[in-house]
Amino acid sequence: MSANRLRRHLVNLLTLLSLLLCMATAVLWARSYRGCDALVRPTAPGDRLCVTSEFGVVVVELEGPVRGAVLPGWEYFQSPLPRRWPVRAGLLGFEAYRGGVTHFVRLPPSALHGLALPHWCLVLAFAALPARWLVARRRQARSRRRSQAGLCAGCGYDLRASPAMCPECGQIPPESRRRGGFVG
Ligand SMILES: [Zn+2]
Repeated sequence: MSANRLRRHLVNLLTLLSLLLCMATAVLWARSYRGCDALVRPTAPGDRLCVTSEFGVVVVELEGPVRGAVLPGWEYFQSPLPRRWPVRAGLLGFEAYRGGVTHFVRLPPSALHGLALPHWCLVLAFAALPARWLVARRRQARSRRRSQAGLCAGCGYDLRASPAMCPECGQIPPESRRRGGFVG
């Protein structure tokens, strides 16, 4: 397989993957206003990586281990158990932060680093390759239509009087090239 073909296959594969990710993110986005998707992954003993999708933002949080022991005693919480987000609301949903996790048992808070990305920006990023593919396909279809109608594929100029080369933009029609008139 030539390098060019391999590259084209790779781009097509990435475009398909991008399209699937785009659709999955759109579904996640719609779900995020009715509930919370959460993926929790322990990284080291006590640490955890937590990815949540809620309120139109994807939040990636790395939570450090709990330092210290459970404190004996009685506690009255000022507020009912909150959902994790929104604790803060960054510009357009973007946010990078560090803080502490309050445990609703008698434990000292643990360190927290987080990054919030709005779903819309992920959908846009994943839509870029499929959009590029769609534009290229439409352009191909348009030049095929023009060629079949005897027009220049590049600019649509009528080539019946000058089939060898477009006098408007200088493009050489593929039929003329195949006849051997030009070596492109
Ligand atoms: Zn032309």
